[in-house]
Amino acid sequence: MAGVFDIVTSDGFEQVVYFHDPATGLKAIVAIHSTALGPALGGTRFYPYASEDDALVDVCRLAQSMTYKHAVCGNDLGGGKAVIIGDPATMRTEALLRTYGRFVEGLSGRYLTAEDVGTTQSDMDLIRRETAHVTGVSESLGGSGDPSPATAWGVLWAMKAVAERLWGNPSLAGRHICISGIGKVGGALAAHLADEGAKLTVSDVRQDAVDAMVDRHGAVGVVPEAAHAVACDIFSPCALGAVLNSTTIPELRCEAVVGSANNQLASLADAERLRHRGVVYAPDFVTNAGGVINIAEEPHGYDHARAYDRIRTIHDTLLRVFERSDADGITTAAAADQLAEERIRSVSHTRLIRTGR
Ligand code: NAD
Repeated sequence: MAGVFDIVTSDGFEQVVYFHDPATGLKAIVAIHSTALGPALGGTRFYPYASEDDALVDVCRLAQSMTYKHAVCGNDLGGGKAVIIGDPATMRTEALLRTYGRFVEGLSGRYLTAEDVGTTQSDMDLIRRETAHVTGVSESLGGSGDPSPATAWGVLWAMKAVAERLWGNPSLAGRHICISGIGKVGGALAAHLADEGAKLTVSDVRQDAVDAMVDRHGAVGVVPEAAHAVACDIFSPCALGAVLNSTTIPELRCEAVVGSANNQLASLADAERLRHRGVVYAPDFVTNAGGVINIAEEPHGYDHARAYDRIRTIHDTLLRVFERSDADGITTAAAADQLAEERIRSVSHTRLIRTGR
């Protein structure tokens, strides 16, 4: 296992902070990858990691991807993430979360936290009692609430961009879309697509979730193992990562992949595999940025209409990704990375000019 500084310096992290509180059992790590565009914003994952090294690797990987996500979607935010090590089912207490909030407060706004796997909106509300540097708190506390509907709205607009590229028209009416994972994002996306007049196939490990979509939207259910191979216009992974790999890509029978799941590609080589197969891939961190665009509106005083207007810009961002991919003969994933890196370089340069702030 590499040392902390090996990991931190190899990928250009600004800061990694360890928090510990014996009274509550809190052990947390915050990774701040970049604050070039603004304070680092990313969720707090509460998870029983097998080792502290696993937790460090995960928090660093996630923080780095937040840098790219914020940059490409136009947020004035940097990349950061936090992990609390332990099982939330047994360790989640008011005292632990408020202690964590006090440590976040100690970072003076360099890091803003949010909900992630293992944490909930009510956890954010508890953290809010100790620090203002938390987002995604309840609407009654001035927050933007659960980000999932915003994420689903962004995926819908990503699909419209893909429709424009493939079929010359953003309409999804009559298009056949297969959604794998109909949880908070997938379920909200299915409702939007049904409103658009799309034909839906859905899959989930929870049969009750599938049944609800069949009843509500006339969707067809399919077993999870077969979802990626359904003959359709768009395959939409909204459950787990690494669904696009050397086994599944040859079996795809769709024209495009557009979904909310994080880290859909098992490896970078899979972006090339998709390109060779002629499948249009909407990079995950562009497609699923609706939630962070929504949250980024909180510090200005959250306004739903303004936030949802901004989320629609995912459509334009994706068209720019496709243009770059065509112009340079590179994968859409590489094109999205380039656009993010260019924005970080150019905007951080403007900050060299001293102002009164
Ligand atoms: P969720 O837990 O509400 O939904 C996930 C659904 O996938 C569940 O219904 C689950 O039963 C199902 N599922 C699990 N394994 C499956 C499998 N093998 N095949 C098919 N279905 C399976 O989560 P969510 O908030 O809807 O997020 C979905 C994905 O989008 C996740 O990868 C998440 O990281 C990503 N994402 C979510 C948001 C957000 O705002 N919620 C933002 C960005 C990215």
